[in-house]
Amino acid sequence: MMVTDRYLIREMNEKLVLQTIIDKELISRADLAKETKLNKATISSIVSALLEKKFVLEVGSGESSGGRKPIMVKLNDRAGVTLSIDLGPKYTSFMFSYLNGETVMEKRLISYVHSVGTAKQLIDDEIGNAAIILKGTPYGLVGICIGLHGIVDDNQLLFSPFYSFDSMDLKKGLEKKWGVQVFLENEANLSAIGEYKYSISSPNLICLNIKYGIGAGIILNDQLYKGANGFAGEIGHVIAVPDGLRCSCGNAGCLELYASEYRILYTYGQHCEEEDISFERFLNDYESGHPAAITALKEFVKYIAIGLNNLITSFNPEVIILNSKLTSQVGGMMEQVNDEIKYRLNERIKIRASTLSDRSLLLGASYLVSRAFLGL
Ligand SMILES: [Zn+2]
Repeated sequence: MMVTDRYLIREMNEKLVLQTIIDKELISRADLAKETKLNKATISSIVSALLEKKFVLEVGSGESSGGRKPIMVKLNDRAGVTLSIDLGPKYTSFMFSYLNGETVMEKRLISYVHSVGTAKQLIDDEIGNAAIILKGTPYGLVGICIGLHGIVDDNQLLFSPFYSFDSMDLKKGLEKKWGVQVFLENEANLSAIGEYKYSISSPNLICLNIKYGIGAGIILNDQLYKGANGFAGEIGHVIAVPDGLRCSCGNAGCLELYASEYRILYTYGQHCEEEDISFERFLNDYESGHPAAITALKEFVKYIAIGLNNLITSFNPEVIILNSKLTSQVGGMMEQVNDEIKYRLNERIKIRASTLSDRSLLLGASYLVSRAFLGL
């Protein structure tokens, strides 16, 4: 056997053992050997290495059928801290978390990110603010994942109507400054991972984010599906109205020009002859029975049903999670959406409002960073 082969096998076994410890939450060395079918000497050596790296901890004692109680091992959730960022068009959200997604610090700032410089400054400042938290763990900051509102392929922002900067410059600048891996990913993809890991663990799940734009994160057979160039799930750019409104993507009549949260508020604002109508004001008007607000939401339901119909027939998911203030905060909205898409193909598909809301993206980002840090 060549040295490289031996090294690879050792690495694969270490991954298997660490994944088994994570899956079982608390497990003895003897049970690890049974679960992984590796011999006890290999388990012992791998667990020692993981303990040395501080990736796992020894805790208390487990159940035993007589004799000495075995020592159990578990993931050291607090080996380090991940940083998740939602780089929104008009805000930036930060979440520092332990490796299990547990939040340590969370913050949302009103911000307009025009350049790599402004984005990097914001992020550098927040990491500086978290210095005490980071020092409290063996590894400190273990990685950064940034959710971008646009098409992202292999850490590269390919298209966004909200910002135009070279995302690679941001990635490289942060990696150089902080010495950790930086990942850039589409916001809906991160939300889908967050929902899949921390809310509804269905192997075929779609998370439809309806905010400034509309995008879907797709989990197929337990894997995130991004397509050949990261475009998969860009449902906001399906044609809902032939020859309709011009879209920044170059097409006309795209769905997100008729059904995004931003668009609903914009259209309602135009009706009221007011700029920048808040969601709270819109909600209040709707609940007071304002006819224009009711019409706006009827239009929203009609168009969002087109998007859902496309997703259902293209991917046949088990669950679709709608992530929008319009579906989670407006009473009766989910019933209206479900009524609008009642047809034979849809009978078995569950359509739910997200319970994680904006945190789904941040949790998904934290999960990606944790996995990469642990080498999984
Ligand atoms: Zn478009």
